Amino acid sequence: MFARLGVLFSLCILLMQVPAQAEEVVNIYSSQQEHLIRPILDVFEKETGITVNLTTGGDGTIITKLEQEGEHSPADVLMATDIGNIYLAKSKGLLQGITSDVLTSRIPEHLRSPEGEWFGLTVRARALFYKDGAISPDELSTYEDLASEKWKDAVLVRSSTNIYNQSLLASIIAHDGKEEAQAWAKGIAANLARTPQGGDRDQLKALAVGEGKVAMANTYYFGLLLNSEDPKERELASTLKIFFPNQDGRGTHVNIRGAGVTAHAKHKENAIKLLEFLAGDEAQAFFSEHNYEYPAVPSAKQSDTIAAWGTFKQDTLPLETVGKLNAEAVKLFDMANWP
Ligand code: FE
Repeated sequence: MFARLGVLFSLCILLMQVPAQAEEVVNIYSSQQEHLIRPILDVFEKETGITVNLTTGGDGTIITKLEQEGEHSPADVLMATDIGNIYLAKSKGLLQGITSDVLTSRIPEHLRSPEGEWFGLTVRARALFYKDGAISPDELSTYEDLASEKWKDAVLVRSSTNIYNQSLLASIIAHDGKEEAQAWAKGIAANLARTPQGGDRDQLKALAVGEGKVAMANTYYFGLLLNSEDPKERELASTLKIFFPNQDGRGTHVNIRGAGVTAHAKHKENAIKLLEFLAGDEAQAFFSEHNYEYPAVPSAKQSDTIAAWGTFKQDTLPLETVGKLNAEAVKLFDMANWP
């Protein structure tokens, strides 16, 4: 009798605990496509028992959504692409500063906010590409050089309205000053092989069919083409070589996919746990393996595809500065005649 009561009592305790556990959640708004993040969120759920609710959308869409929802937003974590977008979210007051020894010890200083409002989780370099045999890599050197007369009608790059180009120009403003940066933007505009069209991937494809001599694109697009399911894309990519500019100086411009805890997070502790997990070895290797990005954590494993490109020197200009200079970069582009 007592034994049975005991069992019943234990069962009641167990049932009472279930709802409490089921309420452990963290809600994330992410611009990363679902198949490139869900599998690693599932690992986090399994390890911690915390359910991750994922909402995906374009960077502009999720930032606007977060802004419009205000304090009623269910989002605890915002994960977005490019410091230009992340800094925009920060400047709108959508993120809060957090402290985490795990994050500050693992993520290099230039890849995170000084106030803990955002943390870079993956790194992409804005590299140069050329067709094997068409030019010699000795002819390439810096971003600045691409604006010189010798590259007339040779440069393939997407529109200046694109955030990746804006962040690159912001870094040039920080390093070379406003006047030099403006001259650079004008110089590139004068050297375009064609009116900008398409995304980074399209610049690489155009390069492969001989439309220009040098293309500018984020590294992961090269990885995506090299590993494409479309044999035609793999074939085109196999004719291209990567070149990391400014290696004798400040290093190649890098940018991030990053995340931060939202200003009105209802599950702040879980949000921090999730960020720390995403900076862990397993998640870092996952991102590198599936989207061909560099891990933000220098010691984490790179995918074979990107490891084959060799090591390069990163520009360690704080990305916070790049974010701050975005508005200035947009202004300079407007005056540069770079469509
Ligand atoms: Fe992209």
